[in-house]
Amino acid sequence: MTDQSASNLLTLPILSEVGLQTYPMSTLYVLATPIGNVCDISLRALHVLSLVDAIACEDTRNTAHLLHRYGVSKPLIAAHQHNEHEVAEKIVARLQAGERIALVSDAGTPAVSDPGARIVDAVLKAGLRALPLPGASAAIAALSVSGLLNDQFQFVGFLPSKARQRETVLASLDSVSATLIFYEAPHRIVETVDALLQAFGPTRQIVLARELTKLFETVHRCALTEAPAWLAADPMRQKGEFVILIDSPPVAVDDGAEGDRILKILLAELSVKQAAALAAQISGQKKNALYDRALVLKAEQDAAQ
Ligand code: SAM
Repeated sequence: MTDQSASNLLTLPILSEVGLQTYPMSTLYVLATPIGNVCDISLRALHVLSLVDAIACEDTRNTAHLLHRYGVSKPLIAAHQHNEHEVAEKIVARLQAGERIALVSDAGTPAVSDPGARIVDAVLKAGLRALPLPGASAAIAALSVSGLLNDQFQFVGFLPSKARQRETVLASLDSVSATLIFYEAPHRIVETVDALLQAFGPTRQIVLARELTKLFETVHRCALTEAPAWLAADPMRQKGEFVILIDSPPVAVDDGAEGDRILKILLAELSVKQAAALAAQISGQKKNALYDRALVLKAEQDAAQ
């Protein structure tokens, strides 16, 4: 079967372009599935699902149901967190025999808070190829509508369920200068939001992204101190699947006082250039700005003498 003819799902001329790319044999295709709305799957993903020899999946019933919706029928291999190690060996053997295998999880992108990484690791260690079929991931979907401005983010995933361990993890994240992304289940959402409030204080922004792409999709952003009351106001708000985002801590405002203090001490002993260079190392501020400021301070010192 050629790549071009493998998918009978594709009828519009433009859609046939998915088959123009080659999909090598002996390759694991790590394929994202929808996180809610069944239509959120890529055309290439559908093509590859219809092309592969078998599909490794977290829960065969879920995946069979999903494939049925797409009109695809393929042999399934159960690949969940309890058998990932053994199934990885079987998948490697099948890939070595020349097969193409897709790897999917129950929802979203495999290996993102889901099984998959061990299988990919085994495939790579065997000198075989893993290629992504990118698509939905709840973390990225939530981040995209958060409006939080920091370009950096840290994906934390699920926090430990035990309070002490959770506090330790949260304490280690308090000063991270990035948007923090958590996953949470409905039965722990209230407890987790309380823990976030304790750990990060009242003023940082929180985004609660619930049931993304589904019927009761909700994205709510507020100060952390307001989040418990928002959740309590309507029991429906505590139901479903959640991504929680926490804005990065505010950057300390530099009014120039600390830079001036350091420069004045250094200028008593060093040249303007040396003082600016050293002050930049000590304070972490920009050398050029400190150099300009040092010139002013030096002139003031000279005039006062
Ligand atoms: N692999 C998936 C991904 O790429 O997003 C994540 C799987 S993880 C086992 C499931 C968690 O993802 C849920 O508990 C929830 O925190 C988050 N999640 C999945 N679907 C979601 C959705 N539609 N809306 C909000 N969060 C979702």
